[in-house]
Amino acid sequence: MRKPLIAGNWKMNKTMAETKELISAIAPKVKDADCDVVVCVPYTDIQTAKRAAKGTNIKIGAENVHWAQSGAFTGEISADMLKELKVEYVIIGHSERRQYFGETDETVNKRVQAALDAKFKPIVCVGETEEERESGMTETVLLRQVTEGLKGFKSKDFDKIVIAYEPVWAIGTGKTATATDANNTIGYIRHVLAKKFHRSIAEKARILYGGSMNVKNCKELMAEEEIDGGLIGGASLKADDFAFIVNYDK
Ligand code: PEP
Repeated sequence: MRKPLIAGNWKMNKTMAETKELISAIAPKVKDADCDVVVCVPYTDIQTAKRAAKGTNIKIGAENVHWAQSGAFTGEISADMLKELKVEYVIIGHSERRQYFGETDETVNKRVQAALDAKFKPIVCVGETEEERESGMTETVLLRQVTEGLKGFKSKDFDKIVIAYEPVWAIGTGKTATATDANNTIGYIRHVLAKKFHRSIAEKARILYGGSMNVKNCKELMAEEEIDGGLIGGASLKADDFAFIVNYDK
């Protein structure tokens, strides 16, 4: 049985004061959630978010991690730095990182290794662009992202690794994959895990859907068998909306 997980991705939003306010507003609304509840926040908000989430069922995550322990990597953050902040999750390979900051499957792979070494749970994002989808390349792209991005990881690593299928054309656009499409594509990712890794890995790996998931479509998406949760961008910035999605089964 895979425990559902709903994770917020705040991207580059919220100051420390706003973080305290938003986490404090979310906490009482999600306290009876049946799923794992995660909020991934900007680095400068992590400490505030951890404090505000203390004693609640909300886990805090970061939005990236570098593979080196330290060094000349201006603007990056190391696992040791995040460890001191006691984050539990970290988003890796988000399409915005791939699109605007040159993230590749190879760097994703190295970042996942660093996250696992630090005992974080990596949320590894994969997904096709609109052009790739229109030219019938969705499966080819996902096959490459999953096999290259997760190359070398073993069965026990998949107790921690979470995959988020996020079609790039659905992120922040208000366009969502239909529940059936998302379910089928996540089913394909599971098939890749079974073929390239092991059937037991395909069965246990949690695979989320992300891309304009909101209060209107969350119940339908979460009712699908292959979808183990959601990575939520825009809707995670509003306490009521995020809590509604977390409580999708109520
Ligand atoms: C995301 O950033 O991972 C995301 C899914 O964003 P949105 O929900 O806004 O589409």
